[in-house]
Amino acid sequence: MDASARVVLLGPPGAGKGTQAKLLEQEFGAVQISTGDILRKAVADQTPLGKQAGDYLKRGALVPDDVIIDLIAERLQQKDCAKGFLLDGFPRTIPQAESLDVILKKLALSLNCVLSVQVPREVIIERLAGRRTCKNCGALSHVIFEPPKQPGVCDRCGGELYQRDDDREETIANRLTVYEAQTAPLVDYYRRQGALREIDGVGSISEIRVRVMTALGGLVS
Ligand code: AMP
Repeated sequence: MDASARVVLLGPPGAGKGTQAKLLEQEFGAVQISTGDILRKAVADQTPLGKQAGDYLKRGALVPDDVIIDLIAERLQQKDCAKGFLLDGFPRTIPQAESLDVILKKLALSLNCVLSVQVPREVIIERLAGRRTCKNCGALSHVIFEPPKQPGVCDRCGGELYQRDDDREETIANRLTVYEAQTAPLVDYYRRQGALREIDGVGSISEIRVRVMTALGGLVS
């Protein structure tokens, strides 16, 4: 059994990758690396990366591979990744996946699992359109399925909840098209590598958590 979790969470936007990654963080002491969160923070802070990425995020298009690959190569070398990492939103294209293989090889590491979370399109649209994100801690809630105790206020930290620009209906359709064209082929890529575990992502957070833990059983500790 491996002493640290090195897991990729794969699946369309709204599959619950971020929610499950946060739970796995607590379970394994591994660090969640969400490229979407990193990019949104860079946009909010108006860093050079944020200025470069902002327009792509707004449109629901993918930020160019070289930008993201450099970002991940640097991030995976940081000390906290020694405890393990949960990649959430990366890789999203075949070139990104190939680069990840190279980066990990250089670090003498390998993935212990790629978890593909499957959710039908109509469920995704329902989830994303009602999703709210905390401006302060990034926690997720949903206006119908996970309503906060006080509307607009994060249960976890009291921060302000907001709707991401790209969770608006017009952008969701574009993100799903991008997913099908560019990210879905990664399922076969990782199946061929023998690293893939597939789970049904429809259900409550705790039901899906049980499936995630079952799928990871014996692979990470
Ligand atoms: P997410 O929070 O994972 O849904 O990502 C939000 C947005 O960030 C995406 O729609 C892309 O514009 C950008 N993004 C996040 N991860 C990547 C990636 N691995 N490659 C390219 N763009 C990304």
